[in-house]
Amino acid sequence: MRKEYELLKTISLLPGVPGQEKAVRDYLKAELKEVTDRVVTDNLGSLIAIKGENGPKVMVAGHMDEIGLLVTQITKDGFVKFQTLGGWFSQVMLAQVWDIHTPKGIVTAITGVKPPHIIPMDKRKEAIPIDQMYLDIGVSSQEEALEIGVLPGQMVTPRAEFAVLGNEKYLMSKAWDNRIGSAAVLEIMRELKQTPNQVFGTFTVQEEVGLRGAKTSSYIAHPEVAIAVDVGLANDVPGGDKAEQELGKGPQILLYDGGLIPNPYFRRFVIDVAKAEKIPYQEAFIVGGRTDAGNMHLAHQGALGLSICIPTRYMHSHTSIIHYDDYLNTIKLIVAVIKRLDRQTVDQLLQE
Ligand SMILES: [Zn+2]
Repeated sequence: MRKEYELLKTISLLPGVPGQEKAVRDYLKAELKEVTDRVVTDNLGSLIAIKGENGPKVMVAGHMDEIGLLVTQITKDGFVKFQTLGGWFSQVMLAQVWDIHTPKGIVTAITGVKPPHIIPMDKRKEAIPIDQMYLDIGVSSQEEALEIGVLPGQMVTPRAEFAVLGNEKYLMSKAWDNRIGSAAVLEIMRELKQTPNQVFGTFTVQEEVGLRGAKTSSYIAHPEVAIAVDVGLANDVPGGDKAEQELGKGPQILLYDGGLIPNPYFRRFVIDVAKAEKIPYQEAFIVGGRTDAGNMHLAHQGALGLSICIPTRYMHSHTSIIHYDDYLNTIKLIVAVIKRLDRQTVDQLLQE
């Protein structure tokens, strides 16, 4: 495996559902030590690394949390009931393997549901509702479950591996949503040396349950420019419409998403930077989804907001696929944009 993939492998495999992002936060905190000594957290646990003393406040954020489950109950027979955290699609959940994180270690679980043989013929074509699923941990009683450390409140994450696929730029892992965004923000902060602004490289919590860390961290950053780095749709698959949604064709500078109508002048500015730097880009839009920018651009008096997304196949499932070049180009684009955001430029954009 290429050395450059080490960071992506490590960060994507760390566990961190909404509200329990500590492992990811600790990892990033250690990495940021070399980058800046100004690192703070908000009271929900979002991490904010700061560079630059003067000029406009630019916030660039990637969320640390991944979609997962929360243990809610253990039945008398030792089955584990759960609450989903983030948007799970029921059809990709069945018969999957999961990690339950207990103080005694990882407990292996499988999503179970009654076998199709006992579902009436006319009902077999229907998707199984999530509330009929449970986790099977291979014990026969509640006592046994408790004994191996399983308790309500524990996080459950998909068990998955990191793999370099056929074309070595295609990378498969769990939680690209949004460890790829967190990794990008880390690299952006590493690359920025002198800037004409104050940059707040932010790693938010609880994005998947309603952009919650984006709200609290924005009160620290007080952004005038708010950029979220997240995953976007890659629809370059059989039956899909790949227009502006293709792996390897560059970061997606969103035209619209469910939480943000970007400032058109700022969006144009970012596109002009991409053109000047010869960075490929796509102009996608997301109707049924939001990014952290949805809350970031609403803090205080508001900010120039934009969502920049790395196209991803099969997001919100156990394993998803990204293209390494899209990641690199996202970093390159945002670094180039931040370097140009001096006081005059930001004021001009705000007054357009
Ligand atoms: Zn996301």
